[in-house]
Amino acid sequence: MRYKESKEQSAELVRSVLALMGQHDAAFNPVSYAVWYEFAAGMNVRLVKAIEAALQVEPRLGDATLNRLYQAHVVDADPEVIQRISSELQYMMAGMAESALRTGDRAGLFSEQLLGLTEALNTNDPSAMTPFVTQALAGTLQMRSSAQELEQQIIVNRLEIERLNIDLLRARDEVLLDPLTRILNRKGFDQQLALMLAEPLALNRQHYMIMLDIDHFKQVNDTHGHVIGDRVIEALGKVLSYCSSDKTHSVARYGGEEFAILLPNSTLNFCLKLADTVLQQTKAMKIRDRRTQQVVLTVSLSAGVAAMLPGDEVSDLIERADAALYQSKKMGRDCVTAA
Ligand code: GH3
Ligand code: MG
Ligand code: MG
Repeated sequence: MRYKESKEQSAELVRSVLALMGQHDAAFNPVSYAVWYEFAAGMNVRLVKAIEAALQVEPRLGDATLNRLYQAHVVDADPEVIQRISSELQYMMAGMAESALRTGDRAGLFSEQLLGLTEALNTNDPSAMTPFVTQALAGTLQMRSSAQELEQQIIVNRLEIERLNIDLLRARDEVLLDPLTRILNRKGFDQQLALMLAEPLALNRQHYMIMLDIDHFKQVNDTHGHVIGDRVIEALGKVLSYCSSDKTHSVARYGGEEFAILLPNSTLNFCLKLADTVLQQTKAMKIRDRRTQQVVLTVSLSAGVAAMLPGDEVSDLIERADAALYQSKKMGRDCVTAA
């Protein structure tokens, strides 16, 4: 998943994001929110670098820059969802601005009343003071209720912003998920791969990729039809997620009947064991006729494991994992090969 922060961590981030939005010139909208969120979370290395570069020439980033950064480094969400969140945010900001204005008006009136009181005090005439004291007292009460109103509204708005943030993240997650399996799609995979490659290597560790492909899947479709074929793919998504539940791993549907697992800072031994577990669990999976509950078929997977080597391009890692997978197919399928 792109966003791994817990509710508490993201609540912390909300505060940093709002502070950043306040320091810069761009409007308070979901585009600038998403950019500053990813910046504050430090999760998008290319975005952080691009922002740092932009700050050299533009100390207070404006709408045009934020939009450019968003387009270049943050994935697009469903435009309809963005539109809805955008209008909700605008509505909320307008409400807050109105409250602040009201408090400001009352503060203006209050200071006039205080000025009157000060002048009356200078006259040393108690009877002249009375109306000013009454006015100032009423003014104090009004100021207090107006400030409380604003404070209340800020609290409500903060909760609302957090809710909108969740909506936004969900909408953005959605474009990264494969609808059939609910694991990452190719786009989500590409993002996680870029993140993995930007991650520094720990001692004696490497970044790994496991590529998996269903054996003789064309035959499954030909014999049982595409509906059953789709159910196999769906069930495999669950097997993969179950076997690779570590938060640092990413599980993706790489293509039609191909899957991939990314394992940052891992070992060959671990990857081989994990691939083997996935293969065993896949073979144990029984696809049943929904009506009769009879087992209709079982399937197997072939796998290839590859590590990112110094000087590698992203494509080298994928090609090596693919070549290792091809080797497994050549060896008779239902097995794992390390590149
Ligand atoms: P191999 O063991 O060499 O991988 O053989 P294979 O039959 O699995 O490989 P091949 O590439 O010949 O066929 C893959 C098949 O996967 C063909 C395609 O129709 C099917 N397929 C791809 N995506 C989907 C999908 O989303 N749903 C279904 N039902 N089938 C799919
Ligand atoms: Mg294939
Ligand atoms: Mg296949």
